[in-house]
Amino acid sequence: MPQPPPARPGQREHEIDTPALLIDLDAFEHNLDTMAALMAETLAKLRPHAKTHKSPVVARQQMLRGAVGQCVQKVGEAEVLAWGGIADILVSNEVVGETKLARLAALQRIARVTVCVDDPRNVAPLESAAANADVRIPVLVEIDAGGARCGIEPGEPAAQLARSVAACEHLTFGGLQSYHGSAQHVRRSEDRAAAVASENAALRATLAALERAGLACTTVTGGGTGTFEHELAGGLFTEIQVGSYCFMDADYGRNLNARGVAVSPFRQSLFVLATVMSAAQPGVAVLDAGHKAVAIESGLPLLHERPRTRYVDASDEHGTLAWDEGEATPQLGEKIRLVPSHCDPTVDRHEWYVCVRGGRVEALWPVAARGAMF
Ligand SMILES: *Cc1c(COP(=O)(O)O)cnc(C)c1O
Repeated sequence: MPQPPPARPGQREHEIDTPALLIDLDAFEHNLDTMAALMAETLAKLRPHAKTHKSPVVARQQMLRGAVGQCVQKVGEAEVLAWGGIADILVSNEVVGETKLARLAALQRIARVTVCVDDPRNVAPLESAAANADVRIPVLVEIDAGGARCGIEPGEPAAQLARSVAACEHLTFGGLQSYHGSAQHVRRSEDRAAAVASENAALRATLAALERAGLACTTVTGGGTGTFEHELAGGLFTEIQVGSYCFMDADYGRNLNARGVAVSPFRQSLFVLATVMSAAQPGVAVLDAGHKAVAIESGLPLLHERPRTRYVDASDEHGTLAWDEGEATPQLGEKIRLVPSHCDPTVDRHEWYVCVRGGRVEALWPVAARGAMF
């Protein structure tokens, strides 16, 4: 059952019920503007990843600042964005199984929805889903350029797969995807640059193989918040798929820039607001936000602008605090902003964004594609 929103417009931040997912609108808009300005200096296009925000409202704000479309990971996310009026969507992922492929094909009636393929065995099912729906599906070949997640071997195997896509009556070969997921959170900038350099070498070999096969490659898409500057510098990518930049998280906050400092052009705009719900004994303070309210697989959350008080233990519905001597004791009923360690799964645990500016609730946005994992 849908849950009621934890706040209403006009309320003060301390009146918001908790645990609540907060967007600090000034920081969020700063991030969107900053990315738009960085992209305006390049020839590449911005196609932000909606697996982070799961919201047509956020997507439309990115589009208004020049994004050409959105990425999603799941067909269900593509449906929610298409219903929200986003006309150009890339499922930056493989879609396997008849049920999902039929939904992907049906969606072509309301939006242009591109999909990735990395296995010759998925081409025929994709073609028959498109034929059954009487649509054409644009398809990208995903290569594994070092990320060791999805993707076919670069070079000749990728070009052969592209050839089999291009030979299908209801599929259009559109280009390549390469996403180096494991490089995003590598701390040193030069190490991320090195990972992207080998990614670029794999892409060059694949582009040469496509040329030998006589196949045009109009799109090369990939990159994330940790590496996009390196992908842009290489000049091969026509599209950048950054997701986390709009919200950021504590784990991205630990990445170092080219000068070796943990400073980013993007600000933390996403928080989980929690309440001290138990302080029954001296030295004890427990928050009402455990790992059902904030993802912890990339580390425990931090307290916003309160480095000497730490979130030290999470259970389902509880978060235990500890603080240095001399620090203010967290008081029963006090509201505390947490910085999630990983933004995407944290968002997926909430139904509402509570958007705040200057200490006041300005709007409530639904996390419309929450739970869209099919
Ligand atoms: C998660 C993801 C992104 C976005 O990465 P961020 O690190 O959140 O910017 C882009 N492309 C693909 C394929 C992804 O899985």
